[in-house]
Amino acid sequence: MRTVAIIPAAGSSTRIGGDVPKQFMKFNDRELIAYTLEVFQNSPLVDEIIVATSGTGHEIISEIRKRENLTKLTKIVEGGKERQDSVYNALKEADLAVDDLAAVHDAARALLPAEVLAKAVTEAKEKGSALVCMKARDTIGYLEFTGLDYIDRSKVYIVQTPQIFRYGELMDAFNKAYAAGWYGTDESSLMRRAGYPVHISEGSALNFKVTTKEDLQIFSKLIPDGLPF
Ligand code: C5P
Repeated sequence: MRTVAIIPAAGSSTRIGGDVPKQFMKFNDRELIAYTLEVFQNSPLVDEIIVATSGTGHEIISEIRKRENLTKLTKIVEGGKERQDSVYNALKEADLAVDDLAAVHDAARALLPAEVLAKAVTEAKEKGSALVCMKARDTIGYLEFTGLDYIDRSKVYIVQTPQIFRYGELMDAFNKAYAAGWYGTDESSLMRRAGYPVHISEGSALNFKVTTKEDLQIFSKLIPDGLPF
């Protein structure tokens, strides 16, 4: 059974702004995505890596592949309008059997701990899927007409990536979503919509998605020799 990492990296980072999309911002002379790719390159459980990107992203990823000797990075494919389109383009290019595993991971989650990845791939091999999530730690409120109300925190999960599924089932879920014109913000929502069970695997606070300027500061403080951003 093979495991291929699919890394969508075609976002334009509207929430952070600036000229360079966040995945290509440099920290200690390395792009944010270089830290992400390193985790998958170094995992003995990952066989191959496919990145979806757009525009100058193609050149940047090729340059990183050469500079960092990313031997597992076999394909750089064109991204799409939404994250879902980018992942679909990469999945269509993947040379996988129906029972092989596709591990989709956001380029912007650059500090995925190696043990979280290893546990998720191992569990996906045993159980057929692995959705990396964290249990909510804070009190979760939502705004009602009458004021703030609360959700039972023990039922709340913060959904991260990697999201690992059998290739055949994931393609079926994507094809069903497109047939209905349905868009989700992640793969697990497509899988649930198509009726597949999704096994939850334990995530990490370190596996946060760099989304805001504050996240850039947190990231730069967590990497070795990180400079104040
Ligand atoms: O925008 P957000 O942070 O949710 O994006 C999650 C991941 O999906 C990022 O790694 C981003 O580069 C990627 N993405 C993509 N294609 C898009 C939009 C986002 O590959 N059209």
